[in-house]
Amino acid sequence: MPSQTPESNSLSHKRLLLLFTTTGYNAQDFAEAAKKLGVEVVYGTDRCHVLDDPWRDGAIPMRFSSPAKAVDAILRYGRTKPIHGVVAIGDKPTVAAALASRKLNLPHNSPESVEACRNKYLSRQLLKRAGLPVPGFACYSTDLDSCHISGRVKYPCVLKPLSLSASQGVIRANNPDEFEEAFRRIGKILKNPAIQVSRERTNKQILVEDYVEGKEFALEGILSRGRLRFLALFDKPDPLHGPFFEETLYITPSRLAAPSQEAILNCSQSAAQALGLREGPIHAELRINRYGTWIIEVAARSIGGLCSRTLRFGTGISLEEIIIRHALGIETISEVREKNAAGVMMIPFPGSGYFHEVAGIEQASKVKGIEEITITAKPGQKLIPLPEGSSYLGFIFARGSSSQFVEEALRRAHQKLKFTIRPELPVIPS
Ligand code: ADP
Repeated sequence: MPSQTPESNSLSHKRLLLLFTTTGYNAQDFAEAAKKLGVEVVYGTDRCHVLDDPWRDGAIPMRFSSPAKAVDAILRYGRTKPIHGVVAIGDKPTVAAALASRKLNLPHNSPESVEACRNKYLSRQLLKRAGLPVPGFACYSTDLDSCHISGRVKYPCVLKPLSLSASQGVIRANNPDEFEEAFRRIGKILKNPAIQVSRERTNKQILVEDYVEGKEFALEGILSRGRLRFLALFDKPDPLHGPFFEETLYITPSRLAAPSQEAILNCSQSAAQALGLREGPIHAELRINRYGTWIIEVAARSIGGLCSRTLRFGTGISLEEIIIRHALGIETISEVREKNAAGVMMIPFPGSGYFHEVAGIEQASKVKGIEEITITAKPGQKLIPLPEGSSYLGFIFARGSSSQFVEEALRRAHQKLKFTIRPELPVIPS
């Protein structure tokens, strides 16, 4: 990188476009990071496309399912107020962000590469073509009769929609009966009108992969001109054997031996290259077993939910700051994560029903190492567990001297929380 001067570091005249959906959790963290950096922010969201500026925050309304139209709206805006960088939060806006950046001549991933990340079948094909280890895979139309496929499949296998996220619709099958049940179930999920609207092209297919044994890890990194810089590696210490794959604990630093960590970084770099990614954050999920390091998925975005709150770099810099600086062409000098260990528990749904209340937050907050407990579910919210649903009750954050300490703190705090979930809606006092 060229040497940094106070002048070249000036962010105060820069305008950043933040693209996000209303359903994402972490837009606020990006907005706060931008404010801290003194960057002017304009939002592009899918909140409503009918009214002009319905939320009085100057946001550009757009539909991420129509990226070309979203880009037109961005370019119209950019004609009067120049945009110096674009950041997509979450998976959905990545294509619009890439297309807009290309038009605005800003360094970004190509639209093709981010499309590939949003299509698990295409991703697998590209990874295989590049010679990376991939499980056996095949793609089937939801219109097919699963009885004709179940006899040809290698077990155990994993069935998944092509472009959902957060493990929604991902199911392990150990035999033909489980396969047929999973196939039917995913077909039904993909008929959900909300999914139909946003994923026209991929919602009639199911990817079937060999099941990859092994422990799972998540790597957070940032690409600059195709080179991947390591930011953090998370252990996922809870078993992820299926039939559904609910994410709970993320703990960093990883306790994995250094050579295996190196293998994960190298594999993620090769995967990013195979997918054509060159700029900005990536979040990669990998498994390690005696046969090697296996990419489960690479997303062209940072870690989801509020999980990035576990990460602090250099002198207290957030992941969002690093991403924003990169998007504006001013790299962060120190991307070394703090010495402390940190972790998050994405609080799983204990069952289906309506969320009434949670007790024990005070006791859980007093557990040594616990920094924050945020309940994101709202009273009255219908909780739909995996594989049909895709969200969490909230997040518990911990920090401490070791990964073991952090993991134990998160488990202890979680045990103190008592959620009331009932089959009927709660009466909410007016
Ligand atoms: P999503 O994008 O919805 O998270 P993924 O493809 O990443 O979908 O799968 C979600 C989870 O399912 C993974 O984190 C992993 O635990 C599990 N999984 C997916 N594919 C496989 C596979 N082939 N073998 C073993 N586990 C898998």
